[in-house]
This record gives sequence, structure tokens and C-alpha cells, in this order.
Amino acid sequence: AAKRAGGGNYAVFASHMGGDAGAQLELQSDLRKALDREQFVLHYQPKIDGRTQRISGVEALVRWNHPERGMIGPISFIGLAERFGLIVRLGDWVIEEACRQMAAWQREGMPLRVAVNLSVLQLRESGLADRLADALRRHGVPASQLLCEITESVAMEDIGATRRTFEGLARIGVYLSIDDFGTGYSSLSQLRQLPARQLKIDRSFVQELETQEDARAVVEAVVRLAHALGLSVVAEGVETEAQRAILLAMGCDELQGFLFAKAMPAADVMRWSLDGGFAPSPRLLAA
Ligand code: C2E
Ligand code: MG
Ligand code: MG
Ligand code: MG
Repeated sequence: AAKRAGGGNYAVFASHMGGDAGAQLELQSDLRKALDREQFVLHYQPKIDGRTQRISGVEALVRWNHPERGMIGPISFIGLAERFGLIVRLGDWVIEEACRQMAAWQREGMPLRVAVNLSVLQLRESGLADRLADALRRHGVPASQLLCEITESVAMEDIGATRRTFEGLARIGVYLSIDDFGTGYSSLSQLRQLPARQLKIDRSFVQELETQEDARAVVEAVVRLAHALGLSVVAEGVETEAQRAILLAMGCDELQGFLFAKAMPAADVMRWSLDGGFAPSPRLLAA
């Protein structure tokens, strides 16, 4: 049965998660059809510049608008798409759609930096940099306006392969961010080998900032480490004023979380930015 999850109205395939082979097949064919029929949508969650308190960019988060089950969040289908060999196609769709939207915002006078999340299987597939460069070129979007987020734990699995891909992506000019940082045991030497621009502190640390002394110490150390390596730092999952105050005092560059906004349809981003006085921050747009 579908249930509500994550605050949104997202159906979860509870009955399909049990490993029933028939249900898995049904889901696999549903996913394939969803790709053919363009049933996916991107919602965008703002990031806030800590200094100016204005919108510094958005993160594209994919949703499946299933004809019978309603909006389904990525936790319920990204893993399946990876297992069924569909993630590269889905990822290409995400890249294409994000570039199209960036170009539309650019035309509307709001050239926002957009982050997309990449699966490790996309990183390991050859030609990713070429396909990204091609999408950017076709839509007339500067590469420096696209940020790719890669989860720390998967990035570090095979550091050699990750470094080669990162170098290819950096060469075309896209920015790279290490997502969910703090959960994946990178060593300092591994971090130094990657041409990343940003560390994104995992929500689990942010959640415990107010109550756990050690979470505070970890976040403070990550901010210092990032800055020492010339990287910017974003905190994800900021939900309270207290968390915001602590993160800003630590020198965190950007903040993201439900305190500011949940992911929203593209059509709402402009209005949200203007209503909240979150007009784009010139400092970051120019960067
Ligand atoms: P992520 O990249 O770490 O994204 C952050 C997730 O935390 C998002 O969930 C977001 O809605 C949620 N979040 C943001 N702020 C808060 C907050 O203050 N509190 C709480 N409780 N949650 C918050 P979502 O959209 O369900 O995405 C989950 C994960 O799915 C993402 O984690 C990312 O790893 C993956 N994902 C999303 N879109 C894509 C995609 O296009 N491709 C790939 N490969 N993975 C994606
Ligand atoms: Mg992310
Ligand atoms: Mg994250
Ligand atoms: Mg996360």
C-alpha cells in the first residue's frame, strides 16, 4: 500500500520492496515505460548564500509522477533504476532537463546555478563528460553554472576511477561537489586528489548540531578542512534557526534545508526567490 513519507505526498512501493519477483518485474517494466513516456519531473530545492542570505542556486531532485501511484520520491526508485540498468538513461534525462530549465531561467533573467545528483554508475559509464558538454552547448548554458553532486561513499569506492571522471568533468568546466560528506570515510589524501569545488555536509551531522558536542566538532573541522583545501562548504538538512546560527558562526558558505524551502516545481522557484527577498546573489552568480 502507498504511504506518506518525507513530508511530501509520495507513494512508496511498500508491497514491492519485499523482493516478490513478479512485483519486481512489474516495477522494472513500469520504470522503462516511465522513461519512454517522460513521467519524471525535477523539483528544485534552493541553497542559500550564508553571507548575503540570498538564493545561491538550486539542487535538482528527481520525482516519478506515476500515473496510478502519484508522486514517488527518488529513494524508492533510484536504487531500482541502478539495478535494472536504467540509471544512465534516467541520468541523461535529468541532465537534459536541468540544462533546459537553466536556459529558461537564464532567459527570464535569473541565471541560477543548478546542481544535479549523479549515480556512481553514471560516473563509471564512459562519455559522461562529452554528454554533459553536449547538453550544455545545445542549451547555451555555461558549464560553470552546472554543479554535479556525487555521494562521498560511492566516490571513494574506486578513487582512481573517480579521479579520472572528475578530471574529465572539471576539464569541461562543471563544478563538482562531494555530497553527504562525513558518511564515507575519505582520507585527506583522497580528497586532495579530486578536483572538487565543494563539500556538502551530511544532514545527520546538521541534525545533531544542537545536542551533540561531537557533531559540532565534526562540522567545525569539516568547514576548516574544506576552506584549507580551497573548497566551499554547504550544509544540507538545515531545519532550525539554531542550526542556521551555529553553521553561519562556523563560516559555512551555503545552507540548504526545510528551514528555507523544500524542493519545489521549477515554476515556483522564481516567485519563492522574490517573495522571500532571496533574489539571486550577484557574488555567487558571477563566480
Ligand atoms: P541528496 O542529494 O542528499 O538530497 C537531499 C535529500 O534530503 C532530498 O531528498 C531532500 O528533499 C531532502 N532534504 C533537504 N532538506 C531537508 C531537510 O531540511 N530535512 C529533511 N528531513 N530532508 C531534507 P529526496 O529528494 O528524497 O532525494 C533523496 C536522494 O535521492 C538524494 O539525496 C540523492 O542522493 C538521490 N537523488 C535525487 N535526485 C536524484 C537524481 O536525479 N539522480 C540520482 N542519481 N540521485 C538522485
Ligand atoms: Mg545531493
Ligand atoms: Mg546530500
Ligand atoms: Mg543526503
